[in-house]
Amino acid sequence: MQFPIFTKARVLVVDDEASNVRLLERILELARVGTVLSTTDSREALNLFTSEQPDIVLLDLHMPHVDGFTILSQIQTSVPAGEYLPVLVLTADITPETRQRALTLGAQDFLTKPFDHAEVLMRMRNLLEDRFLHKELRIQNSNLETLVTQRTAELQETLGRLKATQQQLVKQERLRALGMMASGIAHDFNNALTLVLGYAELLNPHLAALAEDRERQLLANLKAAAQDAAHVVSRLREFYRPAGHGDLRVPVDINATIEQALTLTAPRWRDKCRAEGIQIEPTLELSPVPNLMGNAAELREVLTNLIFNAVDAMPQGGKMSFRTSAANGRIEIQIIDTGVGMTKEESARCLEPFFTTKGELGTGLGLASVYGFVQRYGGAIRVESEKGNGAAFTLTLPASDAKIDRTQAIHYRPAKQLNILVVDDQEIIRELICELLRGDGHHVNVAAAGADALKLLDHGIFDLIISDLSMPDMTGAQLASEVRSKGDKTPFILLTGFGDEMLAQGGTPPGVNLILSKPVTGLALHQAMQSVLAQTSSLY
Ligand code: ADP
Ligand code: MG
Repeated sequence: MQFPIFTKARVLVVDDEASNVRLLERILELARVGTVLSTTDSREALNLFTSEQPDIVLLDLHMPHVDGFTILSQIQTSVPAGEYLPVLVLTADITPETRQRALTLGAQDFLTKPFDHAEVLMRMRNLLEDRFLHKELRIQNSNLETLVTQRTAELQETLGRLKATQQQLVKQERLRALGMMASGIAHDFNNALTLVLGYAELLNPHLAALAEDRERQLLANLKAAAQDAAHVVSRLREFYRPAGHGDLRVPVDINATIEQALTLTAPRWRDKCRAEGIQIEPTLELSPVPNLMGNAAELREVLTNLIFNAVDAMPQGGKMSFRTSAANGRIEIQIIDTGVGMTKEESARCLEPFFTTKGELGTGLGLASVYGFVQRYGGAIRVESEKGNGAAFTLTLPASDAKIDRTQAIHYRPAKQLNILVVDDQEIIRELICELLRGDGHHVNVAAAGADALKLLDHGIFDLIISDLSMPDMTGAQLASEVRSKGDKTPFILLTGFGDEMLAQGGTPPGVNLILSKPVTGLALHQAMQSVLAQTSSLY
C-alpha cells in the first residue's frame, strides 16, 4: 500500500524496543516514506525532534528514562504556535485513562501493538494529509498577509497623493478666485486713480501760479500718494494678468539673469546688512540650462522679490543659495535660504495677494506676482519651509531651445534715438543698462569712472548721462557737479542703492535731475528717462 503523500514526509519513530522500531522502519520503507528517523533512546527524542523537524512522530508511551507522556508535553512546547504536528501514539495497553492522558497532552491518534500494517499506513496518511493541508494554509495566509500589507501601503500612498492633489486644487481655486477679485479691484482702482492723478495734473499749473508753497506741497503729496497706489495696483495686476498676445518673448539666459538680479540687489543684501553688522552669503550652483522664452525684466523682478524675501527672513544673517537645473524640457530655479521659515499655514497662504507677516513693512504682493509670473509662463511654484528652518522656493518653467540672437533685439523704439553716456564702475550693471538702452534703439557710450566720463563729455554731445553714485575716486554726485561747473546742462540721472535714504536725508545733489534706485528695471528706467527729459524739455 503506497500513498503519494508519503514520498515527501519526514517521520520520527521513538520506541525503546528495537524490534518494534525495525518493523516500523520496514513498513515505512515499503510504503516509500521520504525520510524515516528513529531512536530507541527516549532521551534523544527531543533533540532529534528539534533538529530534524519531522512531519509526524510515532511515539511509544512506556519507555525507560523519559516516558512518552513527558515527550508529548515537551513536543507541545517546542512546536511553534499555529503549526500542526501530529503525534501517533503506539501502545500495547490502551486503557481509557492512558488514552485520555495522551490526548490531553496533544496526541492525535493511537495504534495498538501488534500493528496491523494497513492500519499504520492509513492512520498515518490521514494525519499527514492534515499536516500538509495546515502547512499549505499557513503559507497562503502569510502570502495573503504580505499582499494585504502591500495593498494597504499602496492605498495609503494613493490616499496621500489624492489628499495632496485635493489641497493643491483647493489652493489653486482660492488663488484663482482671489485673482478674479483682484482683477476687479485693480480695474476700479485704476479708474479712480486715473481721475485723481488727472485732476491733480490739471490743478498743477493753477496752483503754481497762485498758491502758497504749502498748498503746492499738499498737491505734491496727493500726487505721490496716488502714484504709490497706482504702483500697488500695477503689482496686483501682475498677479492675475493672463498671458497676452502683446507680451514680448525672447530667449532669456536664466543663469545670467540670476547673476544680474543678485548684483542689482547687492545694496540690500550686502551693503545694508554690513551696515547692520550681519552677513548674508549667497552661493550659486548654476548648471547650464536651456533658455526661457520670456521677458528678462519680468524674470529679474521675480528673482528680486524672492531675494528680498530671503533677506527679510534672515534678520541675523545667513545663507541664500541659487540653483538651476534642467530635465524633461523644464528648467528648475531654486532659491533656498536659512532664515526664519514659515508655519504650515503660512506656506500654504504665502502666494495669496496681500498675505504678509511683515505688518506695515510688507505688501504681500511679492509672491503673488511671482505666482502670476509662473502661471503666465505655464510653469509651477513649489514652496517648502518649516518654521525656524529656512525656506525653499522652486520655480519650474518650460525650457526653450531658441538661441539668444544678440544682433536683433526686438524692443519697442521710442520716438527719438538718444545719445546716452552710462557711467558705472561695475561692469555687470553697466552692461545691463546698456542692454536695456540699446534694446530701445539708443546709442550708448560707457565709462567705468568719472574721469573717463568727463573726457568723453569733452569730445561728444550727449542727450543724457546715467551714472552710478558710489564709485571709487569720483562719486556720481561729484561727477554731476563737475559736469555742471563746465556749463554742461546734459540731463543727469543718478543711480543709487541708497536712493530712498538719501532723498529723505538731503534731497537731490546739485546737478542731478533725478535719482533712480536700484534695482533698475526697464520700466523704471523708461519712466525715469521720460520724466527727466520732459523736465529738461527734450523730446523722449
Ligand atoms: P511681503 O514680502 O510684502 O510680506 P510676499 O508676497 O513677498 O510679501 O511674501 C508673503 C509672506 O510670505 C511674507 O510676509 C512671509 O511671511 C512669507 N515669506 C515669503 N518668503 C519667505 C522666506 N524666504 N522665508 C520665510 N517666509 C517667507
Ligand atoms: Mg516680499
